[in-house]
This record gives sequence, C-alpha cells and structure tokens, in this order.
Amino acid sequence: MRKLFLLICFCCGLQAVHAQEQKMDEVPESIQRETLEKLNIYKDKLAEVRKWVAYRRENDNTTSSRVGAIHTTFRWPMRVNSNYDDIPEFYTVSNYMDINRDSAGSSQDWRCYTGGMAMNYRGHEGNDYSLYPFFWRMQSNKNAFAVAGADGIVIAVRDSINNDLNCMRDNFEDDRANYVAVLHIDSSISRYLHIKTGSALVQEGQFVQEGQLLANIASSGNSSNPHLHFDVQDTRDNTGAYDFIEPFDKPTDNVFGTGCNPFITASRWQQQKNFINPQLLRVATHSGAPSMTGFINTSYTPNFCPEVELPRLKAQFAAGDFITVGAALSHVGRDDSVNVRILYPNKVQWTSGSLPVPNTSGSPVTGWFRNIYLVKSFQLPANAPSGTYTIISDFVYRPFDTTSQFGVYYPESAFQYRTIQTYFTVGCTPSITLSGAANFENGYIVSNDLVSTQQINAKVTYQSANYIQLNPGFVAPQGTVFKARIRDCNHSD
Ligand SMILES: [Zn+2]
Repeated sequence: MRKLFLLICFCCGLQAVHAQEQKMDEVPESIQRETLEKLNIYKDKLAEVRKWVAYRRENDNTTSSRVGAIHTTFRWPMRVNSNYDDIPEFYTVSNYMDINRDSAGSSQDWRCYTGGMAMNYRGHEGNDYSLYPFFWRMQSNKNAFAVAGADGIVIAVRDSINNDLNCMRDNFEDDRANYVAVLHIDSSISRYLHIKTGSALVQEGQFVQEGQLLANIASSGNSSNPHLHFDVQDTRDNTGAYDFIEPFDKPTDNVFGTGCNPFITASRWQQQKNFINPQLLRVATHSGAPSMTGFINTSYTPNFCPEVELPRLKAQFAAGDFITVGAALSHVGRDDSVNVRILYPNKVQWTSGSLPVPNTSGSPVTGWFRNIYLVKSFQLPANAPSGTYTIISDFVYRPFDTTSQFGVYYPESAFQYRTIQTYFTVGCTPSITLSGAANFENGYIVSNDLVSTQQINAKVTYQSANYIQLNPGFVAPQGTVFKARIRDCNHSD
C-alpha cells in the first residue's frame, strides 16, 4: 500500500545542510505471515531454549533473561562497531509504534501525542531507529549492527534480497525486505528489519544471547533510508491477544499520567530510554558542506537509488584553506545550538562560532527536528601555523517550555550536556599505522585492545571519538593493520 510521507529539506545559507524528518517503512504482509508460521514451528523448541538460558544463568551468569519471568525485557537492539564512534548503541528514534493502529482515527504514540504531533505515522507497528549521520556511508561500511534484544531462538532469517540502498517507500512487491526474527522464552517475538544483503550472522534455529550480533543495518525492503525497524509481538497484557506491542511504557514524569500505551502494564525495556533524547552526536571537518540529498527524494519512481550522499569528510588542511565544521544532532529544537571554539596547535584560541538550529518548519512541530546536520565554514589564515588544531564543540540545549520552543511541552526529554573535541591538522599528515590486536566475534571485530584513554606511546593517545577508525570498513582478518588518525603530526609508530 502506498502511503504519503513527508520529507523536509531546507538550506539556510550554510547553516544546515540537512534536516531529516519522518522516515518510513512498512512490514510486508508476507513477512508477517512467515513470522507467524515460524512461530508455530519453533514454539515446540522453547523448552530447550529455556533450559539453555537457565543453564547459562546458573553457570556462567551471562544472561539477564529469567526463565519464569512473566515478560522478556530487551536491551537496546542496535549498536555500532566499537571503533566506529563513541556512541555505542543509540542513534535517533525516528518513529514509535502507532498505538492506535488497530482503530480508526489518527495515529498516536506511547506519550499520547496524536496525528501530526505523534512521533510515528499511521499504522506503524514498531520502532524505527535511524543511523545518523551519513547513514548510506554507515550501511556501506557495515558500521551498525542489529543485535538480539534478549535471549532466544532465531526463527527466521532472510538476507538475500538485494536492495540495501532503497531510498523510498514504494509499491515494491511484498517480499523485498531482509530481516531476522527471534522467539524469546516468554513466547514474545522480536524482529529486526531492513538488514543488509548477505550480512546475517545467525541462522534459523540457532540459539542467540542478548546482545549477540544478528546482521548489519541497511535499507532493504520498503524503507526510505538505512535504519533498524524493531518490533515486538506478544500477548497483550490487557486483552491476552497476541499482537504487536509497543515496548515503551510508564514514563517517569506525570504530564500524561502513565502514558497511553494500551497494550502493556510495564516497560519491556531493561533500561527504557526517554521519549526525546536531545543529543550532539558527532562533530567532523569537511572540505565543503556535505550533501545527504540521497535521502531527499519525493519521487516515487522505483530504483531512484543509488543515492548521492557526499560526506566530504576531510581532516588535513593547508594554510588559507576553508574548513567546514559539521555537527550532527538529534531531537533538537530551534533554540538549541552548537558553539565551537577552534584552538591553534599551541592551544591558544584561533576562532569561534555558533551553529544554531534554524527556526523553520519542521515536523511534527515547528522548529523541531529528529535529525539535523549543521555546518559552518571558517577560513584558515594564510600564515596559519602547522600542527594539530582542536575544535571544542559545546551542545547548548534550551529547556523545553510551553511557549517559546515547540509550542508544546515534550515531557521526559533527558538532556545530556555534551562537549566533543575534534581535531584536524594543517600542513602535516596526521596518519599513523598501528598494529591492531583485535578480539573477534563471528568474524567481526567487536573490540580491540586500544581503550579510550590508553597511552599508546609518548606522543599518541587513542581517543575513540575521533582518532581511530578502521579503514575503510571494519571486517578484517586477524593481523589486520589499522589506520588511525591521531592528534600529532608526523609521527610514526
Ligand atoms: Zn518501521
């Protein structure tokens, strides 16, 4: 079924190159049929899975699942490669479930917002978690994983559909989506949709532990951009019917009482995240304003992709060059901003600037954005000294109020003050080659022996946000040599 969707792009000088709004997907009926068929096949195996979970709990204490618990609770079901960034699990919630999907009328989310205010769209049966920024690049480089939300048995795997770069919801035939489904010991099912072709790390019938890597996140199926669609089916507490549930519930504030989730009586998360999560995700330097316009396509013409995202990431400059500083944010409003200070190699301040969230139309309410990428350009002086420059970026977040920001009070927004330091070099090469000793899990590097504050040698300190990144992806055999960007110039290990 074709549905309207809204994508808003705006350019405001060089202030914001990309504002990403509602993302869409749809779970095909064929997948739902398949999931339920598999449920019938595999529910007989549950006794075995429960035994396995009980054994692990007893003997190696490696699971949080409790046999006999009324409901399974989930950990966050996605994460990035441990060396990709310093945001290990969480990008942006783009859509919650439409808790009114069974009924006529408008959509509603678990915080009771309805219609255009709701953080979802009509009929959505799960949650969407976006990769941001540069999601096309992230999916190409296999930077993000879907991971099992809880212990269970894999009941369905499909990773043979080759449309990872799908960038619009469309009238594709029913079965064009890759996904994994896991049956849990309380008989609930979690599903992970839009995974990358050929990336599944598990097989049907396999027991999986909470947090185990399932597959890479992409945009296969009826999807407008790389993201994870996570949905949960279980017996609804109120009716006993087996159907989709929204795992978010019971907010801690009292603005809407206990919220509006009609399906459950307690959160199905081990640690529930807030409804709104204002964040400065990442700061980077570029040769010019990056383009993310692969996403911004209002045409329904099939096979518009491949996309045309141009990150233009650059960390080495020469005196006199223009440097574009880019800041990726999520869940922010028009009064929020990022303030940057740029320091010379000797730590004396060179310049400063502000990157404000523009006051313009967004969705679901004016001046509010699920994701936005702000940029500002600076020109290095002709006599800029060589060396490593530091950018200190402060996220300035204005508390919500009922009038000035959104015209509405969004409850339970947990602001975390965040300062990010980013580095670039002028007149020298910041690269270094390190021999990485990695730990492996299913053939993928999940961590290595460089930790966030470890001193590698007298001149080099590894810092996860900016300095070490496997190049170009992270799938590597034992003995792989890692390329790392470091803060010192002209250094060799
Ligand atoms: Zn979805």
